Amino acid sequence: CKGYRYDLQSMRFLSMADKNIGVMQVVLTSLDAGVTASIETGIDTSVYNTGGVTEGRKKHFRMRELGQFQDEGYLIVETYDKRYTVIFRSGFHYETRGKKTVAQDNIFELKLRKNQTVVFTKVFSVDRVSRGADLDRAKELSEKKFRRAFWTSFKSLLGKHTRAWEALWSVAEVSIWGDPEVEKNFRFNIYHMLICAPEDGGIASVGARTLSGEGYRGHVFWDAEIFILPFYLYALPWAAKNMLHYRYRRLDAARAQAREKGFKGAMFPWESAGKGEDETPGWAKDLDGKVIRIHTGQMQHHITADIAYAFYHYYNVTHDREFLEKCGYEVLFETARFWASRVKYNKRKKTYEIRDVIGPDEFHTHVNNDAYTNMMARWNLLTACKLFRDLNKSDPALLRSLMKKLQLSRKEASQWRTVAAGIPITTNRNQVIEQFDGYFKKRPVKITHWDENSLPVITGRLTPRNYSKTQLVKQADVVMLLYLLSDAFKPSTKRRNYEYYVERTTHSSSLSLPVHALMAVEVDDPARAYQFFNTAVHTDISNVNGNTDEGIHAACLGGTWQVLVNGFAGVRVDREVLSINPSLPRRWRKVLFHLHWRGALLAFEIQSHRVQIQIVSPNRRRIKIKVFGVLHEVTGKKKHTFEQKRAARDERAYYL
Ligand code: BGC
Repeated sequence: CKGYRYDLQSMRFLSMADKNIGVMQVVLTSLDAGVTASIETGIDTSVYNTGGVTEGRKKHFRMRELGQFQDEGYLIVETYDKRYTVIFRSGFHYETRGKKTVAQDNIFELKLRKNQTVVFTKVFSVDRVSRGADLDRAKELSEKKFRRAFWTSFKSLLGKHTRAWEALWSVAEVSIWGDPEVEKNFRFNIYHMLICAPEDGGIASVGARTLSGEGYRGHVFWDAEIFILPFYLYALPWAAKNMLHYRYRRLDAARAQAREKGFKGAMFPWESAGKGEDETPGWAKDLDGKVIRIHTGQMQHHITADIAYAFYHYYNVTHDREFLEKCGYEVLFETARFWASRVKYNKRKKTYEIRDVIGPDEFHTHVNNDAYTNMMARWNLLTACKLFRDLNKSDPALLRSLMKKLQLSRKEASQWRTVAAGIPITTNRNQVIEQFDGYFKKRPVKITHWDENSLPVITGRLTPRNYSKTQLVKQADVVMLLYLLSDAFKPSTKRRNYEYYVERTTHSSSLSLPVHALMAVEVDDPARAYQFFNTAVHTDISNVNGNTDEGIHAACLGGTWQVLVNGFAGVRVDREVLSINPSLPRRWRKVLFHLHWRGALLAFEIQSHRVQIQIVSPNRRRIKIKVFGVLHEVTGKKKHTFEQKRAARDERAYYL
């Protein structure tokens, strides 16, 4: 009633101990007078998606059953494509003066005396059933599960939930001493990665906007493998494996796509969803909101190499041989096979060209020999060659059975090296890599103004539609390459390319800043490294791009984690050895985190000139780690401390 005061407290959670169970509690006390409370609960069947550019509001399911059974309401819906059935159950009870009542109606009134407290609790469950599965059995199981949760006390449900969270935070937490604001924002990002960690053995992966919004319709892009996966790989390796299973389960669809387009092997789609077919829409909103035709689905082929890269990266960090044998080899061989068929031989130049693609910089479409695509394809081919050769020595029987399964001949595999060697990369006199054929001839536009978030301000008469005529770049492209294939480039090549492209990059995608921060750390540009990182880290918590309502920018979350761990803390895999070479921002006193490395869990405490490492998992074998460029071994329970003495000499052979 108007003018009266109430005390209202509420708590709601989806259980981290069982994500199919949700709990809500509302505690109400009327402070000034006796009142009548009206309660409305139940299952809202009117929900719909707000929809994307072309289709508008959309309902994705049709109702099959809706009803009340004993004390619970239930709803069974089926997606329009009939691939999934979803069973939803919900029960409601309230407790007042120590008496618990299970609500029989969805709409009712309750009289409350002055200072009387009522506790409303709602428990619900959601279960998905695939087409072809036994629906009656699934209903029985979901019913049992729901009943168990419904009759468990709120306290106990909350206890299980918080214990599951504690277990996750005990490995995923990162502490930044000396920068509490950044630490808070950073943990917000980790929280968002933890809640979307894939647990289902490959049914789903992580969409570009996680499940927190409808942006990109939940589709899975390269964001998953290149940006987010490294966090899981080191913090929750089982989640990284599930993401790779997601791709492996869709390898046949990728083979079908390659075949359809006249190629061999497996070609993964730019935007992927349930079936693994290309789901890229034909239309999307441009940066200024104008709806334009998009060609990324037909041309952004680098994703195939990105996925191969993630399979190899996973093996390198975990040494999960079983997964490599069951899934990894197949993906690396099939993707190499795709590139070997995707190239076109240029007789005049004697090169293997990759024509008509879109690189990470989506401002320029229909380009030839995009440096990122070319070098990642080259990496894919060479890595497949190496794995083929190694397997031939270590387990020839397995290689033979794989060759039989894939109908792959030795002759075909031996071609991979020849093709890789012939894929062109063009540089100018200053070792600057040309982003694609003809890029240097585009109108030279440089960025001269940046806003308070260190984002470029484009002045003049340029609109997104004519960026393609200029050298403006949407996001890290060549710079991305310098990071991913770090071993291939001399430090001076990295610096020159970073300096050249940083002046031309508009960071119009949230993927860009973290990668620039990573390279800024490497080329010793600490002020900008911190600025890029700081803007990236609060992308969603401060809604920097004004579109967080469409969902959390998943790649940016993963990217900022990489900046901290792989950039500032300097954790890299250097020729198969874990290597640490920190350069923390000035104001940071130290950073603390845990990482999984080849079956062991390691605790790190990192300062600019001092690194402490301890094996904290029961598995305490010797681990080789390079710290400040010097190889050491850590073992046992003790904390190993390493101080920086002098800079190690760089004696490698680089590609560029
Ligand atoms: C970026 C892509 C990214 C996609 C989904 C686009 O704006 O250019 O690189 O994969 O968003 O996040």
